[in-house]
Amino acid sequence: MYNSKKNNVLVIAAHPDDEILGCGGTMALHSKNGDKVNVLLMSKGIKSRDKTKNIEKKISSLSSAAMKANKSLGAKKITLLDYPDNSFDTVKLLTIVKSIENMINLLKPNIIYTHHHGDLNIDHEIINRAVLTACRPVPKSSLNKIFTFEVNSSTEWSINKEKNLFIPNWYVDISKTIKLKKKALSFYNSEMKKWPHARSIKSVEILARRRGSIVGLNFAESFHLVRSINI
Ligand SMILES: [Zn+2]
Repeated sequence: MYNSKKNNVLVIAAHPDDEILGCGGTMALHSKNGDKVNVLLMSKGIKSRDKTKNIEKKISSLSSAAMKANKSLGAKKITLLDYPDNSFDTVKLLTIVKSIENMINLLKPNIIYTHHHGDLNIDHEIINRAVLTACRPVPKSSLNKIFTFEVNSSTEWSINKEKNLFIPNWYVDISKTIKLKKKALSFYNSEMKKWPHARSIKSVEILARRRGSIVGLNFAESFHLVRSINI
């Protein structure tokens, strides 16, 4: 995809399931293309939402769902960090930037997919800023493309200000991988909701149809290309 050489892809998302919602179909396409796909999830996705008992069990079951979901799309290295769910604003931005820089230095991706800056979820917004900071275009950087994706029930729920709007300018045909995306999401049963919730499987499919129809495709994932460097 994108060029004749094999790509080295890193998906950076705040919570388990964001990565599949945002770019699961595209991840599967990269894997089919023989590209290396790695995933960095910044939190284990539960604590602040769930103060009930069995928290440890729930965290381990969501972590195992994350492994299965991402492996089903061909991801190789899946890393789960432990930043506080829905409270990334209590951590110094520089600390988060350093975690991301360490992973970039280790994996040397040429393509990164991450959150849109205008999402309602505070963690998503912070990850966008942290990734862009970690990806400063310095000499000898491995990166040549950075994309942001949309996440059902966060991107479209943002405060309706112009600066928050997600305006895609890059579409990927996922007609052949929408099934894989839906299957990967099925591992995240506990996170998915029933229709007509914005984070339901049906809503995911409708969004893919809508994005596809904008550019004459059956199903698409759409992205905002933040930066592309042709080398
Ligand atoms: Zn999220």
